Amino acid sequence: MERTYVGDLKENIGKTVKLEGWLQTLRDQKKMQFLILRDPTGLAQVANFKPNDEELAARISQVNPESAIIVTGKVVENPVVKLGGIEVQLETLTVDNLAESPLPFDPFGETLPMLDYRLDWRYMDLRRPINSLLFKVETLVQQAMREYWSQKHFVEMHSPKLTSSPSESGAELFSLDYFDRKAYLTQSPQFYKQMAMAAGFERIFEIGPVFRADPSFTARHMTEFTGVDVEISWIDSHEDVMEFQERWLQYVYQRVKDEYGDEIKEIFGVDIVVPEVPFPRIPMAEAVRILKERGYTIPAEKKGDLDPGGEREIAAYVKEKFNHDFVFLTDWPATVRPFYHMRLAPDSPLTRSYDLIANGLEITTGAQREHRADILAKQALEKGLHLEPIQYYIDFFRYGCPSHGGFGLGLARLMMVLLNLNNIRESVYIFRGPTRLNP
Ligand code: ATP
Repeated sequence: MERTYVGDLKENIGKTVKLEGWLQTLRDQKKMQFLILRDPTGLAQVANFKPNDEELAARISQVNPESAIIVTGKVVENPVVKLGGIEVQLETLTVDNLAESPLPFDPFGETLPMLDYRLDWRYMDLRRPINSLLFKVETLVQQAMREYWSQKHFVEMHSPKLTSSPSESGAELFSLDYFDRKAYLTQSPQFYKQMAMAAGFERIFEIGPVFRADPSFTARHMTEFTGVDVEISWIDSHEDVMEFQERWLQYVYQRVKDEYGDEIKEIFGVDIVVPEVPFPRIPMAEAVRILKERGYTIPAEKKGDLDPGGEREIAAYVKEKFNHDFVFLTDWPATVRPFYHMRLAPDSPLTRSYDLIANGLEITTGAQREHRADILAKQALEKGLHLEPIQYYIDFFRYGCPSHGGFGLGLARLMMVLLNLNNIRESVYIFRGPTRLNP
């Protein structure tokens, strides 16, 4: 018999169906047994009249909550049933996989254990509806991104994650043995994105893993995350990159709102607001002035940069002034940007770069890149880099590479913002941090 989903029971009244799912609860009464079965489309009540078949009733009593079960039965209307006024009258039960008892924790219990414990038992935690919705939304987010890219003639790229040299400073690199030498896990596809510009691809994107040996324990950092990267040729400045990114994000938000807006409201309590374009833009020099005016002091060691508190304060200002949840902070000092960001004007201390702050959280860094080999080499030297390991990269720009720019966005950070999650560990399938390599 073909499987029927719980969500389709209404169309099957009077028929015998097969359901496959998890036993969420069993109410074992004197005469009746009620099994609440959960599948990805919802919950169904399955009823068994015990005197019909004592042997079956005894078997049901032995099935622990969260077991994977297969039942067949007749779908009937029953107005007193809370789950859609429909009930399945049990005919057969197969236990596909009996759950041991006790469970590590009850994903449907009234209180949940601490996050770290839930991460230990992530597959139990992921059974919660809030998590299944999260990953349905994340799937749509990526699909919508691809739809937009595809309308705009972008090419998808998969760059290697094993490299021989760092793309930025070496501080955040994981190294590993690569036969008789050292290799590194990429901390960003930056160089390979730009190589695609030298290859004449003009517009590319990549969704792939990024590794950072960053020993930080914040609620927004991971040692491995999914990066969403874009690079575009023939631009005039970072403004063109921002213009692309805001429209692309607007499209993604609209798709999410149309398809999951109601469910997100119900389960996450979040109203998806499709952002208006253009997003506000504030040059960093002005942002620093605004923060000062608002009495916010950027920590001394962050000179030229912003700390997370500063990001939140600027976001609050933008919300008050423009009623907008997004803001591009632009024109960052070269001292806090990588060597490949183009200067605002020749020898300017500022760069053609931006960060995108969403609901107070940094989700993107973007920039126009320096595509003139001689200036690029000069900027690398100024940052104290050795040219030899990055010469292959500088060479990209020696044989006809158009002006270009792009951005990198952390997928998990976007999910945090979209669904108002306060910890990145809740917004990824499996979290990787300095002290977490399992499961
Ligand atoms: P941060 O200042 O928050 O550490 P960053 O400046 O190092 O971030 P970039 O190197 O510019 O970030 O990376 C681009 C984007 O990738 C960031 O805007 C963010 O969305 C995401 N990202 C960066 N580091 C991490 C991380 N450790 N974990 C998860 N996402 C990250």
